[in-house]
Amino acid sequence: MVQTSPVRYSLAPISPEAHRYEVRCTVADPDPRGQQFSLPAWIPGSYLVRDFARHVVAIDAACRGRPVALEKLNKHTWGAAPVRGALTVRAEIYAFDTSVRGAYLDTARGFFNGACVFLCPIGREHRRCVLEIRPPRGRGRSGANYRTWRVATAMRRTGAGARGFGAYAAADYDELIDHPVEMGEFALVRFRAGGVAHAVAISGARRLDTARLARDLKRVCEQHIGFWSGAAPFERYLFLVHAVEAGYGGLEHRASSALLCARDNLPYAGMKAATQGYRDFLGLASHEYFHAWNVKRIKPSAFVPCDLGRENYTRLLWLFEGVTSYYDDLALVRSGLIGRDQYLEVLGRNITSHLRTPGRTRQTLVESSFDAWTKFYRRDENTPNAVVSYYLKGSLVALCLDLLIRERTRGRKSLDDVMRALWRRFGKRAKGVGEGDFERLAEEVTGLGLASFFGLALRSTRELPLKPRLGAHGIEMELRAAESSRDQGGGPAGGGSRPAAGRPSLGVRTRSEGREIVVTHVLDDGAAQAAGIAAGDAIVAVDGMRPGPGGLDGLLDRRRPGESVRVHLFRRDELIELRVVLRRSPRDTCYLSAEGKSKGRRENSLMRRWLEGRAR
Ligand SMILES: [Zn+2]
Repeated sequence: MVQTSPVRYSLAPISPEAHRYEVRCTVADPDPRGQQFSLPAWIPGSYLVRDFARHVVAIDAACRGRPVALEKLNKHTWGAAPVRGALTVRAEIYAFDTSVRGAYLDTARGFFNGACVFLCPIGREHRRCVLEIRPPRGRGRSGANYRTWRVATAMRRTGAGARGFGAYAAADYDELIDHPVEMGEFALVRFRAGGVAHAVAISGARRLDTARLARDLKRVCEQHIGFWSGAAPFERYLFLVHAVEAGYGGLEHRASSALLCARDNLPYAGMKAATQGYRDFLGLASHEYFHAWNVKRIKPSAFVPCDLGRENYTRLLWLFEGVTSYYDDLALVRSGLIGRDQYLEVLGRNITSHLRTPGRTRQTLVESSFDAWTKFYRRDENTPNAVVSYYLKGSLVALCLDLLIRERTRGRKSLDDVMRALWRRFGKRAKGVGEGDFERLAEEVTGLGLASFFGLALRSTRELPLKPRLGAHGIEMELRAAESSRDQGGGPAGGGSRPAAGRPSLGVRTRSEGREIVVTHVLDDGAAQAAGIAAGDAIVAVDGMRPGPGGLDGLLDRRRPGESVRVHLFRRDELIELRVVLRRSPRDTCYLSAEGKSKGRRENSLMRRWLEGRAR
């Protein structure tokens, strides 16, 4: 067999002050008809066409030191004139996106996803790739000193030096763009889990308790490796964490994940009990790590292979995002990082968010998955009325399915068994999951007839049977009207004084801007919608009173449902007066409690097995 020559890439942060990388791609034996190159339109894991090629600010081609004509063929493809000999394309790419999905460079730090910077030589995408990552040169124009910069990536090193600059290799283009790279100054902490080397590179943190972070993440990783019963499917794993003032996000990769979090959510020296923010961070890390199996290796057949030039439609995103969202928090309770009551609080809050989304009565879960590209990822003021989240509802469907299987098989089988079978049957064999495969497999593994459950949960907008499923596991679910607009529910039900007639509701989501209350969303069938309030309106007074620090809650505090109030608001530059008849707050705040009346010995043993989740 003839050994084909690899595609050679080099990447240099040539101008951190101007946020520009220079990237070269060399093909030793270009297509004799003229080699074409393209840049992905989207990045796997984030289902929106982002057209990364719009950040290419300069591009040219050369062969044996001579320029070669390069023609742009469409928004992300270029064609070089036919040449004999190695062809190099050089592109300068603007990088100033702080999200986990993009590329970023300034005088303090660099980060990139390969999908944003590496041109793919069409027809050569299965070739081996070698990459040289170069450091920024000397001192920057602004006086920045780059001598302390290091590189962190899970890509295989072949000749990188101690600071990580130098040579790397990937089996093909798909792998090349699946190892994000961080460069700059960062804290690095290492641990082993399941016999595999793990590392966390954290940039932007202050007074970080790295030992605690490593200890807790190790527990999460070991929980997941144990869950999938066996060896980790990667040789090393890296969490790339970027801490900022406020932010939240994560993107999964085959041997790493990029996480964006609020600085205050990371553990600091002297922190005792885990804060809510830290629990959220662990949940995010848990989520992306679970994806190393579920979506990076168990994939929908629509992504085998991915077409990075356009939308790839699948009705299964609920399985990859929803099931992952279910197990991310469950892994925290199973590994002992949070307690049972904290877990029930999280579940209660999730159920509350779902019940407060009118779009759940309009869009099914499979529709939400299919339309992710144009609906879930392209949010606007009408999104809560039109869209259901395949993450959130998907996680509640996974919960119902797991509890249903456990209940009907008297604890002999669970969703865990179905997921492990999915791993053996599809993930390990690199076989794509077809649209009906998961439902068939769930019936096969459990021996149960689940068609009516799947019909309701995936292809209808009827309410999920949460209360009976939780009840059978000794958990009481109570729905109450919200006590304030900040009341997210979740916590164990405890008395408290509530107005007898219930709190009045306007049916809006808002944000405060100084002393104005700006309406961000008007919910279907609410008081505000009936009165003609619209998204973007700035409420300046209710019954002649300006909002105070208590916001809308303060203004509606002593009102009752059925009462009419006078609302003054600005719509764009016009002052408008409207009469609004307040409505009763819906009973959409969920409280879960394990101490309910339905407590019984068998149910408690079901609950224990569920929350402990031992592999059988
Ligand atoms: Zn995810």
